[in-house]
Amino acid sequence: VFIALEGGDGAGKSTQLRLLREHLERVAPGREVLLTREPGGTPLGVEIRQLLLHGGEVAPRAEALLFAADRAHHVATLVRPALERGAVVLTDRFMDSSIAYQGAGRSLAADEVDRLSRWATEGLLPDLTVLLDLDPALAAGRRGGEADRMESESTVFHTRVREHFLALAAREPERYLVVDAARPAAEIAAEVSRAVDALLAG
Ligand code: C5P
Repeated sequence: VFIALEGGDGAGKSTQLRLLREHLERVAPGREVLLTREPGGTPLGVEIRQLLLHGGEVAPRAEALLFAADRAHHVATLVRPALERGAVVLTDRFMDSSIAYQGAGRSLAADEVDRLSRWATEGLLPDLTVLLDLDPALAAGRRGGEADRMESESTVFHTRVREHFLALAAREPERYLVVDAARPAAEIAAEVSRAVDALLAG
């Protein structure tokens, strides 16, 4: 079972992934749960992440290709093998981030970024994508530490990204759970757990 968490920077993805893993360990003890992320879920990915977030400027198409390279390697070497073993794979970001950030954010054609990602993953899609939706102005206040290259982008950029995430979810409501991420973490976690329990039971 493959579950992706998506959303803007500061929406609370890492907290929710941690809570979801704890929930799964309670309700499905013995089941392997792999918690991973993009970019940076593999050793190669860690290097790509460093280039993308803390290197110099990256041309938009090069940026899209680097995220796609991270994803291709992540899926081929970590995600697919885990799914084949029967693990529940939880990923912090997947292809929707590319469509929203490189497509809408960087103004590349979203359908081309979508196709690039499907090629990179040989068509692997999450069974469920949880979108943590939050106003970028609120999200900016939550982020700690030094901003990376994307986090330093304008509110206009982050608003375009948010709208694109919502549009992707609206296109395929049966495969998405859109959560209002302004609510308390425990409430969000309960809603996410219910959806995941339903998926595992079905
Ligand atoms: O969520 P995380 O902090 O790991 O993401 C790293 C950074 O990369 C974030 O600032 C996010 O906005 C950006 N990103 C991106 N395009 C992607 C995935 C992440 O711009 N496809």
